[in-house]
Amino acid sequence: MAFKLFKNGDELYDDSQELIKRGEFDKARDYLIKSIDKEGGTDDVAAVQVALIDLSDRLSSMQAYQNLLTTLERLTSATTVQFGLETIDVAEMKTECELTIRKMTLLSSGDRTSGMERGQQLIALAQDFQSRIGDRSLIALSLFRKDTSVTGTTEFYNLMALAYEIMADATVGENPSQAAEYQQIAAGYRQQNGQSAEENLRRVREYSATCTCWICGRIATGEGINFYAAPAEAPKSLEDKASAAAASREGYDHIYVCKACYTAISNRSDEIANEYYQQSMREMMAMEARLQAEIAALQSQIAFARMGR
Ligand SMILES: [Zn+2]
Repeated sequence: MAFKLFKNGDELYDDSQELIKRGEFDKARDYLIKSIDKEGGTDDVAAVQVALIDLSDRLSSMQAYQNLLTTLERLTSATTVQFGLETIDVAEMKTECELTIRKMTLLSSGDRTSGMERGQQLIALAQDFQSRIGDRSLIALSLFRKDTSVTGTTEFYNLMALAYEIMADATVGENPSQAAEYQQIAAGYRQQNGQSAEENLRRVREYSATCTCWICGRIATGEGINFYAAPAEAPKSLEDKASAAAASREGYDHIYVCKACYTAISNRSDEIANEYYQQSMREMMAMEARLQAEIAALQSQIAFARMGR
């Protein structure tokens, strides 16, 4: 058998296709790069396959999707790309890259964009997943994770739920009943997506809960937001019959306190604790200085006694 030391670009490319079928991506990538160096270009199918291999174990990398999108945009000679036994539609893969990049950008923009704005952008993105991918499975997940359960439609439900949860977080301080409404909508999308809506419904209950503050008597809406259940001894004889509007306690070991009273009390107690801490630190340092002085005096007495021997 003739042994050929140098293979040409086409042969290298053919070998790489076999390696991809066998799932030997690292090796296949080497062959593809060599074949591109020999006679391919950055605008061919081999470049797309390299980008796909790079994406295979980095599905959470925006850069990997961006690189794949770039090679797909340069590809003018084909409308499909073979990857192992799968045939990938270039236009569909491009759409998936674009939408995934938008999703990753939006989900990582938490600190820079306001919650309401981000919510609206997520809703627009969700609708794009629905209209542009629909019931098709996402290609990257089917290809590299053998997971066909994620489709444009499941992404739609997922992102809609997320959008309303983010908007709920953004409004809850100002308007807990509006936030409860958003959580209710998010719960609906979670359920349609076959997910648990328990957390959303728990928040709906909390955000809609109303109390009369035990201390100032104001009415506050939104448990954990505008009022808290504070541990206290609240015997039955102290039943507050005047505040019929809303409950003022949770059992006999918790009273409801509005945020204003709660923060005023905890801030003041922090200040007091801090004063005690500073005072005891000062006393400890003074004591240490006294002890050090005594030790030094003893040491010099010992030294003096030794000299006299
Ligand atoms: Zn209060």
